[in-house]
Amino acid sequence: MAASPEAVGLQPLAFPFQAPACDGSLVDVVPGSIKWLRMPLPMALDHINLYLVRDGAGWRMIDTGFDTRQTRALWEKILPGLDGPVTGIISTHHHGDHCGLAGWLTEKLRVPLYMSRAEYFAMRLFGEKASLDSWEYKEYFRRAGLSAEQLTQMAEALKQFHVDSPLARAYQRLRDGDSLVIGGREWQVRGGEGHSPEHCALHCPGLGVLLSGDQLLARISPNVGVLPFEPEANPLKDWFISLERIGKLPDDTLVLPAHELPFYGLGRRALELRQHHLGVLDRVLGLCADLPDSIFGLAQRLFPDRRSELDNVLAISETLAHLAFLLEQGRIGRSLTAAGSYEYRVAA
Ligand SMILES: [Zn+2]
Ligand SMILES: [Zn+2]
Repeated sequence: MAASPEAVGLQPLAFPFQAPACDGSLVDVVPGSIKWLRMPLPMALDHINLYLVRDGAGWRMIDTGFDTRQTRALWEKILPGLDGPVTGIISTHHHGDHCGLAGWLTEKLRVPLYMSRAEYFAMRLFGEKASLDSWEYKEYFRRAGLSAEQLTQMAEALKQFHVDSPLARAYQRLRDGDSLVIGGREWQVRGGEGHSPEHCALHCPGLGVLLSGDQLLARISPNVGVLPFEPEANPLKDWFISLERIGKLPDDTLVLPAHELPFYGLGRRALELRQHHLGVLDRVLGLCADLPDSIFGLAQRLFPDRRSELDNVLAISETLAHLAFLLEQGRIGRSLTAAGSYEYRVAA
């Protein structure tokens, strides 16, 4: 494929490391400063990358893993083997794979949890199981075009992902533009929106490293979705702005992401992700031009490879994000059907 004019001069993606097993084995990605480990996840995306950053005599933990017996057992094995204490836990954002064990670890290690404010409260909000049965959730899925029966089926399937994890109370706020000193080096907090409300990536200019969380992944396009608690949001607009900002970091930065492999090629990847969404926007417009359709109808046509109820939810939320973006631009319109679902068509 020919490079786009914008990508000229940007290096192609390069992957300097092999993946370790999902068993807590430690890899020195920046010798003396950063260790990388993988933990298993109980879903299609089957792993998360976690990092330990040297902090004086100890280590600062970046993300915690999902709260499962297996992950807890891995930490029980890894922690005593470290040559120093954990000095604090940084969670990039509120998704369960990133902070699921924050409560358990802050309690066990008696250290603070560093997180942005919106992510901290989102984590506490999503800790509530009851929200799946709330009228807002039901309305969100009815508006998307699901029948009452489909909705019940989906709610049942989603409940299995709910874990009653202990709450993290030892909280310290991070925000975009903050500087943290970890192990005598300056790390800059880089805020991002769209995938989650106030995601924090961490950039260390001295080491030339970006701990990117889910903000920049090498092959996966992180989910950008409209969620039931804020059904009129336009997260794709925020995501485009955030991609542009993160894509301006030095192109020789080593990106240490939360999933898949560490890589070089940050500028190109930010551009690819932008182009991916521009492509989806075009496809959504094309589909709406064919015939007016519901959110779920469009999601099924856009994402034919869905294999689970979780995939359905992600597809609905992602489709809705693209529809919200086009709606705000006035390129499509929507109307409410008698059945209570939205129907989208290309604006006249
Ligand atoms: Zn995430
Ligand atoms: Zn993630």
